[in-house]
Amino acid sequence: MQRVTCGVVAAALAAGLWLMQDVLHGADRTRIFVTFVSHNEESISNPPCAPVMTDRTRFAANRVALLQAAQVVWDKRATWNFQTEYEFLLRISEWETDQERERTQGLNLVHFLNTFAPGHIQVDAHSHEQRGYNYADIAYLLERMQVPPNGIVGGFIVNPTRSETWTRLREPLRGRRYPTYTWQATTLWGGGSVNHTDDSNVSGIWRPKASNEFEVDDPNQALLAVGNYPGTGTDIDATPIQYLLDELRANRLQPGRMYTATIMIEQCELDNDPTLLPKIGLLIDRFQPDVQRGDLVWATLTEMVRVWREDYESQPLVARPAWNGGQQTRAR
Ligand SMILES: [Zn+2]
Repeated sequence: MQRVTCGVVAAALAAGLWLMQDVLHGADRTRIFVTFVSHNEESISNPPCAPVMTDRTRFAANRVALLQAAQVVWDKRATWNFQTEYEFLLRISEWETDQERERTQGLNLVHFLNTFAPGHIQVDAHSHEQRGYNYADIAYLLERMQVPPNGIVGGFIVNPTRSETWTRLREPLRGRRYPTYTWQATTLWGGGSVNHTDDSNVSGIWRPKASNEFEVDDPNQALLAVGNYPGTGTDIDATPIQYLLDELRANRLQPGRMYTATIMIEQCELDNDPTLLPKIGLLIDRFQPDVQRGDLVWATLTEMVRVWREDYESQPLVARPAWNGGQQTRAR
């Protein structure tokens, strides 16, 4: 009895301290926010996507694999930002058959993905802006395919400074291919570099200051960045996230801050590499206990931004977790 009372008193005290800490900080406790992100590329760009964009059989197989991946992500309540270039959108419009659309409630693939698991899967724009299409053009194509614009920039160049592509996205962007269409970016994700030698692989959400001070927060800027820690390597590796969880439990992360991590899925390999889908499922399963503890939260990039504003009072974070001993990660 004595022991039970002690336990209750201790629990009440702990809860009180916890509450006080929350009041003192005014923000939610430190948590790690995670989402899967996938890209597709133009057929003349990165190698794995060329067959999917040029061979109708591969396109069909990739479509089936994407639906399987979406089901796994939804069944296990994870999240996925599906980011797409223009060419894949054109292929959907040209190549999808009635039979295929029957499998997606009569909807085109991106419309289906964007509505199938609300809050868990969303479709964003990804553009290298090199061959006549810019971000506004991708947004236009998406809108035409019933995916309303969400303001996310799924990949851009930070380094070297003279080649950066993001500061101009603070202003409304007019389409190059569709010049009557205008689009406004709200959130950057995926700060890369020419040849991926000097990517920005930080964890956190902040407001990038200037072309040569991307990783510096400036509260006067409206355009946000969600860090793409640990980088855009594509091996569905749990290690960098586990590192953050270990740091969190060792009290080595900043208090009252929102850490971010993303796991890249190679979309164009999904139908070609039978190990990918099981790896996605296993990674989600592995972190379920951390989700239950509230240490890890699956959230789309859009949801991360909402939580950052509402639960973390827009407290910026630009963290560089040294999960690999601080080495630059190679990425594509
Ligand atoms: Zn790309």
